[in-house]
Order: sequence, then C-alpha cells, then structure tokens
Amino acid sequence: MIITVKKEAPQQEIDKLIQGFEKRGLQVTLIHGDNYNVFGLVGDTAGLDDKTIRANPFVEEVTRIAAPYKKANRLFHPQDSIIDVAGIKIGGNEKIVVIGGPCSIEGANETLEIAEAVKDAGADMLRGGAYKPRTSPYAFQGMGTEGVLAMVEARKQTGLPIVSELMSADKLDEFVEYVDLIQIGARNMQNFDLLKAVGKVNKPVLLKRGLANTIEEWIMAAEYIMSEGNQNVIFCERGIRTFEKYTRNTLDLSVVPIIKEKTHLPIIIDPSHATGDWKLIESMSLAAIAAGADGLIIEVHNNPECAWSDGAQSLKPERFAEVIRKGKAIAQVIGRDM
Ligand code: PEP
Ligand code: MN
Repeated sequence: MIITVKKEAPQQEIDKLIQGFEKRGLQVTLIHGDNYNVFGLVGDTAGLDDKTIRANPFVEEVTRIAAPYKKANRLFHPQDSIIDVAGIKIGGNEKIVVIGGPCSIEGANETLEIAEAVKDAGADMLRGGAYKPRTSPYAFQGMGTEGVLAMVEARKQTGLPIVSELMSADKLDEFVEYVDLIQIGARNMQNFDLLKAVGKVNKPVLLKRGLANTIEEWIMAAEYIMSEGNQNVIFCERGIRTFEKYTRNTLDLSVVPIIKEKTHLPIIIDPSHATGDWKLIESMSLAAIAAGADGLIIEVHNNPECAWSDGAQSLKPERFAEVIRKGKAIAQVIGRDM
C-alpha cells in the first residue's frame, strides 16, 4: 500500500502514522519528496481500511497494490480449484457442467417431470427454488421444505444432484441435510451473516453476483465464506443492473476471464436471469462457453406460460436440449467437454 502525505504534515503526525502501521506488523518505508511525503507499506494490509486512513487530514491519497482478498486470490493458490458437488467436478479443465430446472419448485410430480426432461437433454444437475426472493411480498414465496423434499425425491429418481437457494441461516440445517449445492442469491450476496453461516459448513456454495456489485465486492463475498473455513465456492454471473431496458439485466461476460485471472475458483453463467428472455438463452449460453465458463445454470419448464415464476425466461426441454447440443460443439473448439 502506498500512502501520500502532504508536505506540510508536522513531524509528530508522520511519527504517529508510522507507529500505527508498525504496531500492525507492517514494514514502513518513508520517502521525502519535494511536494509530498510517501509511505510504502509492506506486509498484510488486508485489515487496513483505506477510508479510515483517508480520514487523516494530512493524507492526500491511498493506493492499494495488493488485492484485499487472500483465500480466493490466485496469487497464493496458482492452480485452479476443482469443486466436487456430489461427485460432479466443477472447474479446472473438467467437463463444463449444465444445471437445468424450474425457477420455482411447483410440486413433486412437476419437479420429477422436469428433472427427467433435463436429464434426458443431458443436464448434470437439477436446479429449483423452494425459498424464493420475490420483489413483491404478494408474489409466490416458494414451497419451502415441501419444495426441498420434492427435489430430494427427483434426485432419488434421476440421480441428478440438486441446487437450491438458501435465503436465511435458520434453514441451513435443512440445506446441509438435503441439498448438494447451496445457492446464495444475488440479493443476498452481501448478507454477511448468511455468508459466514455457509462458510462454517462443508457444502459447496454457488455464489451469485449481486444486482449491482463490483467484481471486487463479489470476490470479497467469497472471501467471507472462505475465511470461515469453507473453500468450496463457485461464482455465478447472473447479469447486473444497467440502464438497458431491452433485457432484464446486462450479462457481463468479461467477468469469466477476470474471475479466472484474479481467483482460482470456478465460475458458471446464468443466462436466464441475465437476460430475462428465453429467446436470448441459446446465444448467451454459447458465448459463455466460448468465454471459458465452467458451467451453465438455465431455467427450464415444461409449460413456461404457466410457470409460477420466471416463465418468460424459461426454456422448454427441447430448446434446452438444443442449447446443450450446440454447446458441446463450442466446448470442443476450446478443448473442453460438455
Ligand atoms: C434464482 O436463481 O432463482 C434467482 C432468484 O436468481 P438471482 O438471485 O440471480 O436473481
Ligand atoms: Mn428465476
């Protein structure tokens, strides 16, 4: 970290700053320039808060050299992490995984029908929301435990591991018992207590990007989980909020190479919530594969017109199968299986 201090800073202020940094175990080098004094700090600066340092009226500028994340940082973990979800490996140069299923779980029979359809299409895992984060409190809120159990039954029949969203830490035991991959939704990406809670268990976590969060904030959310002990984090880009209205969100595919450069964790793409429009799912899925994503999570429904949520962005099983068929060809071009 480099701290630029105004020339007129009294010596006692400079001494105070140096002592404060040294107390934290940091090595301090001071350069007296013509117009400024510059401090170079070497050591673990992750615990320093830039804004607090800036509060000192003699401080002109604070520049971070090292990223504030450690556990997720590729610098300290050069090889790709491969996350095992009930036997399915995600990341590295493993097979690109495809997760399909309804936005909301709507019943045991409905779930089983979709599970069989996505399995036939070639999916590796089943998705489905039992606890739904809805914008309106009057909209369907999810089937709760009954929905989770419907997924468990579908897993029993099809063998597909299941992913579902956890909205509150008080349901964590239920998820640890029944769910293979715990999803933290966009709206909870910075629910730090929830992140810490899933950090304490030994289940893989699918961490969606927040509606309007920077890549660094997103990686710091992963850091919350990892700093509690759970290293099994998979990122999921699901579009961010921009000024654009033709799509529900704006799919930021540049995050794929950036996440891979900055971290060692896998990243998958959710083209459904990113676009909000079933007509865009195929092209965005193929682009995600070409960009190097480790997987896709796609909403699929037998009868999207009657879906209890997100019908407009849900694919019918035949179209989902087509995405996988074309996706395999793109995967082959970049030297991966799907
Ligand atoms: C979902 O996957 O069902 C969902 C609600 O997604 P997001 O958190 O990305 O909006
Ligand atoms: Mn949805």
